[in-house]
Amino acid sequence: METTIANKLKALYKLQALHTQIDKIRQLKGLLPEEVSDYEDKIVGIKTRVDQLKNDLDALKHEFDNTKNLIRASNDAVSKYQSEVGSVKNNREYDALLKEIEIQHLDIQLHQKRLMKIEGDIVNKTSDYRSAQTDLEANQKYLIIKKDELDKISAETQAKEKELTQLALDAGRDIDSNLLAAYTLLRKKAKNGLAIVTVERDACSGCFNHTPAQQQAEIRLHQRIIVCEFCGRILVDEGLVSEGAIT
Ligand SMILES: [Zn+2]
Repeated sequence: METTIANKLKALYKLQALHTQIDKIRQLKGLLPEEVSDYEDKIVGIKTRVDQLKNDLDALKHEFDNTKNLIRASNDAVSKYQSEVGSVKNNREYDALLKEIEIQHLDIQLHQKRLMKIEGDIVNKTSDYRSAQTDLEANQKYLIIKKDELDKISAETQAKEKELTQLALDAGRDIDSNLLAAYTLLRKKAKNGLAIVTVERDACSGCFNHTPAQQQAEIRLHQRIIVCEFCGRILVDEGLVSEGAIT
């Protein structure tokens, strides 16, 4: 009887070890596609921002050129009026010319003020544009890294997962159906997928609650299957599963 229970526990623990390996592979893959798609979404957002900043910058440069042209035109007008000052026929014409020149000078001042404002805006926008581009490049790099990682894992794990799944199927055949059903149910309920765990440092290594000394002594006897009173997982002593029987 003792051997039978001990063997049942060993077989179950072996099955658990295989399932844990499969879980780990699936976890790795389960996380990466999400990360890849997060980066893809993020990149779309940053690209939109880069495009918007580029458009703003183009508009500012266009306005800068326009304003410069307006200043040039005003300067030309001033030169023209000044050349006419010598050939005026009367005071009225003279006053009118001076008035025009004054108006042009005011315009030039306004345009120059505007030009300085645009120059400042261009400096700020250029800085925003460059940092957005740096951000974009960094995220594109991360995306490539994550994609490569995912491709590599997918290629590597496909064969391994298949092999482990087959081994788990074989291991499951040696376990009686009631115990296997209980194990499957426990695994489904447990967050970490562990249905059978060792007692380590006087505690259940599934939920880390204290395992009483008397219960530990009973576990070591392998006379019946004992479950953790806190989480319901099947408990085994480390001695049983570290005998080299578990591969
Ligand atoms: Zn527990």
